[in-house]
Amino acid sequence: MDLVIARPEGLYCPAGDFYIDPWRPVERSVITHAHGDHARTGNQHYLAAAPGEGILRARLGQDIDLQTLAYGERLLHHGVTLSFHPAGHVLGSAQVRLEYGGEVWVASGDYKIEPDGTCAPFEPVRCHTFITESTFGLPIYRWQPQAQVFTEINQWWQANAEQDKASVLFCYSFGKAQRILHGIDASLGPILTHGAVEPLNRVYREAGIDLPPTLYAGDFQKNDPILRKALVIAPPSAGGSTWMRRFGDYSDGFASGWMRLRGTRRRRGVDRGFVLSDHADWPGLLWAIEQTGAERVMVTHGSVAVLVRHLREQGLDAQGFRTEYGDDEEASTAEAESVEALP
Ligand SMILES: [Zn+2]
Ligand SMILES: [Zn+2]
Repeated sequence: MDLVIARPEGLYCPAGDFYIDPWRPVERSVITHAHGDHARTGNQHYLAAAPGEGILRARLGQDIDLQTLAYGERLLHHGVTLSFHPAGHVLGSAQVRLEYGGEVWVASGDYKIEPDGTCAPFEPVRCHTFITESTFGLPIYRWQPQAQVFTEINQWWQANAEQDKASVLFCYSFGKAQRILHGIDASLGPILTHGAVEPLNRVYREAGIDLPPTLYAGDFQKNDPILRKALVIAPPSAGGSTWMRRFGDYSDGFASGWMRLRGTRRRRGVDRGFVLSDHADWPGLLWAIEQTGAERVMVTHGSVAVLVRHLREQGLDAQGFRTEYGDDEEASTAEAESVEALP
């Protein structure tokens, strides 16, 4: 019997009668992390890993019915033992481990292998069946060590500041933005953030994550000299908006795994692309799958067919799982939400 099946509402555990990251409202939801395509409003009950509580409440509402478990803590529900294990993707992100009648399944949610200092690092969990994401499940995706990417960003920022130009770096406002803030050299100049980024910084700081001091970009008028030395962290939706005018002559960059593709860089029309992803690359996916020891692998969102074929060639029982998860590296307009919302 399968511990998790695909249903129109989402990934469903029949034995426990709950859903994992459902995309339609359900009674009982288990949430891997707070990105919009995994954590949606409208569920009656939420269960998530404790470090994600602040973000989930900030995004879904302070009054949601949310129960949390520490990583590794076990909950017995209808005979199913459930626990969360770090996925290394964003603050609070978790893999969901389910055990029932001697069978162990793990649903990965989104995950990243390289520890980044802004969330608990990925921990492989042994299981019989592993449900894995494959956002970057193609052999062309191989990330450089993040230290190298941060050096590139620092050099770009420094060169722009020497020419009295602001450096505007577009990235996803939850996770990627805080990872960049944590990783860059804050001694190079002032750091400004967009209104969509700052509330999430606050939650990270409250969770004890070390982020450098940031200033709210909306507080500065055009031609303020501080702007010319600043690194500005903004969601992609801010690009081309009137909000950008205050920076005058600026250089812009985009940080995403998709920057690996020249076409994406061109389409985005930015000066610089920085290849930085919060998802596992191809070797990372294969490593994680191997570490689980799973004989059966279900592949969700991304390059499903390519990864499934590869795993079958390795002798694994692999298949695709239809989901409605999106792509948190390809910026959505939903992020425009709080552009002018801050005082
Ligand atoms: Zn995600
Ligand atoms: Zn996802």
